[in-house]
Amino acid sequence: MGTHVDDATPAFVATRAEALRRLDAFLPRAGRAYAEARNTDGGPEAERSVSALSPYLRYRLLSEREVIAGALDRHGAEADKFVSEVLWRSYFKGCLELRPAIWARFLAERDAGRDAVRRSGGLARAVAAAEEGRTGIAGFDDWAQELAAFGYLHNHARMWFASIWIFTLRLPWALGADFFLRHLVDADPASNTLSWRWVAGLHTPGKTYLATPDNIARHTGGRFHPRGLATQATALVEAPLPAIRPLAPQPPVPPGRALLLLHPEDFGAERSIVPGVDVVGVLAATGGTDDWPWGAAARRFVESAAEDAAARAEGSQGGGADVTEGLGAEAVLAAAAAAGATTVVAPEAPVGPVSDALGDLAGPLTAAGMTLVRVRRPWDDALWRHATKGFFPFRERSRAVLGADGLGDG
Ligand SMILES: Cc1cc2nc3c(=O)[nH]c(=O)nc-3n(C[C@H](O)[C@H](O)[C@H](O)COP(=O)(O)OP(=O)(O)OC[C@H]3O[C@@H](n4cnc5c(N)ncnc54)[C@H](O)[C@@H]3O)c2cc1C
Repeated sequence: MGTHVDDATPAFVATRAEALRRLDAFLPRAGRAYAEARNTDGGPEAERSVSALSPYLRYRLLSEREVIAGALDRHGAEADKFVSEVLWRSYFKGCLELRPAIWARFLAERDAGRDAVRRSGGLARAVAAAEEGRTGIAGFDDWAQELAAFGYLHNHARMWFASIWIFTLRLPWALGADFFLRHLVDADPASNTLSWRWVAGLHTPGKTYLATPDNIARHTGGRFHPRGLATQATALVEAPLPAIRPLAPQPPVPPGRALLLLHPEDFGAERSIVPGVDVVGVLAATGGTDDWPWGAAARRFVESAAEDAAARAEGSQGGGADVTEGLGAEAVLAAAAAAGATTVVAPEAPVGPVSDALGDLAGPLTAAGMTLVRVRRPWDDALWRHATKGFFPFRERSRAVLGADGLGDG
């Protein structure tokens, strides 16, 4: 393997220019070629069958809308598979937004798992062997090392890895999800947590994903044919989740001069946040404190992405732009005062640590006479509410919504 994350992650250069370059290079393959080859994982050195756009979508250097529009313009109905995959992202974001208890449960189970590791030498050794790729299971060990080296895994490798972690190694699923969050550049509270739950049989109760040696061999071009994998995947069980929390109505944005606050859930600096709002300054916040659940590779990406967002905002929004570490009230208030803003407007952050940090910011801002308004992007506002059941009804609703108005600049 050889390549360490410090050398490998610059492969994901965190600028919108790079995101657009990659999108442009991928679009010719977003039609039939993607549909036919997307399940193949030739390994980190092989030409990719997929876009590897996930870090750019995750932090919104690219919007879902523009990626989907690009694929449809180029391939029409042949882009269907690719469009569906991008919609999985919006679906998972909506699912978590409507069911915040899932994120809270993950954090609680992760912490309980970490406690269990501290108490049990056997579990500690088993988790360490899995994370370091020393289990002796062909493929699994390679993916563990590939993840640590590159901050990225092909979707199929993520599915196989999660399945083997849960059903063959019988390790706590939340520790596996945590391992992914600490290494993926695209580390996402919704896509990661819900995908692990989907494999475990918690997302669609009773329906699990079982990794098989033949499937792995076929889709890795014969690179791996592991032995000793579980032949059954019995679904994990949990207490029922609380009822869905409907999306709150969008708050009105007070008239006046606004500071636009960008953050790791949305570095879309060039998209208007609310038509008619007078943006007089921009602040791009990085991924803050050490207890945020993602690791060094994601953190570095986010820091560069914040710099890039601020630089782009200088040209596309009103006023000056700056970068701040984390979402501390002092820095936000200082930036608002410097810009002469009377309101702070932020694109909505769906459930996760950024949303929590925005929640913590509201009180101190109000105490200082400043309002924080969180505004859902039109894409999110239109789609998240439909993530009430499974993916397929969501996709149908999304197509109807997108077909009706295309959602402007998203
Ligand atoms: C266990 C597990 C954990 C995962 N954790 C994450 C995560 O933390 N962050 C993350 O962005 N994705 C996650 N995924 C989803 C998916 O694996 C990645 O989005 C995808 O592999 C990224 O590669 P790509 O950009 O080449 O995808 P492409 O196949 O080119 O798809 C284009 C885009 O569609 C979205 N997408 C594709 N497949 C999925 C999917 N199954 N679920 C949600 N969105 C999808 C991504 O934004 C992706 O960039 C996870 C999947 C599994 C099985």
